[in-house]
Amino acid sequence: MQTLILDSKEENIAKCARYIARGGVVAFPTETVYGLGADAFNADAVKEIFRVKGRPSDNPLIVHVCSARGIREVAENISPLAEKLISEFMPGALTLVLKKKKGLPDCVTAGLDTVGVRMPSNSVCREFLRACGVPICAPSANTSTKPSPTCAQHVYDDLYGKIPYVLDGGECEIGLESTILDVSGAAPRLLRAGGISKEALEKACGCSIEVVAGNTVALCPGMKYKHYSPKAEVLFSAYYGGMSERIAEVYDTLVLSGKRPVILCADFNAEKYGERKMYKMGADYRAYARLLFASLRRADAENYDTVLAEGVPSDGIGAAIINRLVKSSGGKII
Ligand code: AMP
Ligand code: MG
Repeated sequence: MQTLILDSKEENIAKCARYIARGGVVAFPTETVYGLGADAFNADAVKEIFRVKGRPSDNPLIVHVCSARGIREVAENISPLAEKLISEFMPGALTLVLKKKKGLPDCVTAGLDTVGVRMPSNSVCREFLRACGVPICAPSANTSTKPSPTCAQHVYDDLYGKIPYVLDGGECEIGLESTILDVSGAAPRLLRAGGISKEALEKACGCSIEVVAGNTVALCPGMKYKHYSPKAEVLFSAYYGGMSERIAEVYDTLVLSGKRPVILCADFNAEKYGERKMYKMGADYRAYARLLFASLRRADAENYDTVLAEGVPSDGIGAAIINRLVKSSGGKII
């Protein structure tokens, strides 16, 4: 099978929607990362997603809808708190875990009685969802374990020959996956840090939110697998006063031992590293988030063997950046 990157004109969106209606799998843009989608009510199509991606079948998918009505097609018993979050944060980078409707195939949710639902804000995505006319379930459109794709070319590089179309919506505005909040139980619980901050959610909920850590249960199987890993070894630093000096020191030691490291740093720290190889990650942490996965892929393409990533403050989008760095580094902190 050949894979084509299709620009987002109407006839291409219609072509992708027709392929979905025939039970096919298509990659599409969202504001977080690119998704690998199928009709959520077609179990065979859903299973094809797992096959294409090489994803373990016990890792559930997120259902993407373009309206509040779409949420009710896949979820039920939606609490007043969930309704409030829907009206405040959707469309946007928030996935809510809700009670699943019986009719939704079990393979979408990996057998759980809950379903993760999201309403993307990206305009190409919304047109695509509208053209499909059915809820679209999708994981990120990368090969399992690789960094998530934040542009059409990343999807093409990972999945060439496995899917016919990648709908091109340009670069993802957020660049990290959605925040996942479980509102199916008595109190809201944060399952994954992402594009919407915990602070913003707590403000809306009017209470503090428990962060579910670790990987003991299949609540959020995304937590349990190797993730976001380039070929290069990723090492990351905690965020503290002496961070840049420490990173420069580790860089020099690596070079002496014959390694090819590259530093990921905020623009305002760049001059501290002098002539050392670095990728500038922008003027603020939203930019760092947007560039992170692309930078990990770029390091592989440019044959660096070690990525030395600066830490960031842990509030706002920083929590999501740290979470992805911990996973891609396997927890290797310098
Ligand atoms: P991905 O889009 O590749 O990040 O994968 C979707 C992720 O959403 C999964 O790895 C889970 O962590 C999470 N997820 C989806 N549905 C549920 C659910 N019902 N309960 C908990 N987590 C979920
Ligand atoms: Mg993923």
